[in-house]
Amino acid sequence: MQDSPSAAGSKVRFSEPAKFLPIGFICVNIAFLWTVYMVYHCIPLMQEPATSRQGIVQTLVFNFVFLMQVTCYVLCITTHPGTIPDTDETGLADWSYVPNEPTKMELAGGGAHETKRSGDRRHCKWCAKFKPDRCHHCRVCRTCVLKMDHHCPWIYNCVGFSNHKYFFLLLCYSVIACHIIVWTMYGSVKSSVNPDTEFFQMFLMLFGETLATLWAFLITLFLMFHTWLMLKAMTTIEFCEKSMKRTAYDSNAYDRGLYGNIRSVLGDDPLFWFCPCSLPSGDGLNFTEEAPLLGASSKDVESGRAARKEKQMGDNATHKRKWKKGGGAGTGECGDSEASGQEGLDSSD
Ligand SMILES: [Zn+2]
Ligand SMILES: [Zn+2]
Repeated sequence: MQDSPSAAGSKVRFSEPAKFLPIGFICVNIAFLWTVYMVYHCIPLMQEPATSRQGIVQTLVFNFVFLMQVTCYVLCITTHPGTIPDTDETGLADWSYVPNEPTKMELAGGGAHETKRSGDRRHCKWCAKFKPDRCHHCRVCRTCVLKMDHHCPWIYNCVGFSNHKYFFLLLCYSVIACHIIVWTMYGSVKSSVNPDTEFFQMFLMLFGETLATLWAFLITLFLMFHTWLMLKAMTTIEFCEKSMKRTAYDSNAYDRGLYGNIRSVLGDDPLFWFCPCSLPSGDGLNFTEEAPLLGASSKDVESGRAARKEKQMGDNATHKRKWKKGGGAGTGECGDSEASGQEGLDSSD
């Protein structure tokens, strides 16, 4: 899926130069911290015979983590998170949506877990496509994103089905890199604070240590949140939706157990969980073990719709009010998407 962005989706991406500014900011931060750590910590350590061994080990470990971090960052930016195809691999399911015209996909609505309040299949009015489960339209990227997690301005991209693993690993390697700097450079910074050290060097080291500490703190919290989401089989958008509804978090329809949930983000083979390769299997369109998309008979669809209508009628009014009031949770990024969910919180209603 990662190589099949829609033509429209890829055309509008990277078309606004101002949106590269956050990426530039991150690159300046990374380059600054790398330079300070190498020039004022690793190289002096390696030059001293007593600490050269320690210096070599720290240089090798840090540069390996740094390389992985940069690789994941580039992959996050350049990998399309995945969008709704025109047809599926078998060519049977047509995802295009024509108003007031029932299509094969609509008649097969019983296969979808998430539906609108009315029980009808969700669709995107901007892309004129039916939405698969967990898919949401991103207003910044101007396209529907499969298994959308959130839009991240720091990568000028959405985090979705095809780049979720890269995003998660980016957080992991960033946390490791920052903590390496914070804890190993501390000694060098401490000994630099004396009258013999050049002011500029002392300033850069203190600034580097402070900056690394700040990043380490922020990204560690963010990684903890995303690890928790992964273990709970939730995306950030789903977390926001659930928070607003105040329902139990662990009643998630996509929960495959701890091991299964990790596999669905980091890939099927545990050996490659921390390599920026071996993405999770699947097409980003189906996440439940329910009836195949086109397998449901129209009778099933009707009874499914009736049941869903009944279930949803009671609390819809409250949900809608809450949803309209709500903003993002933590990252402030949920608001960017036209999030919709199982209870039909869909702007195209
Ligand atoms: Zn869309
Ligand atoms: Zn986006």
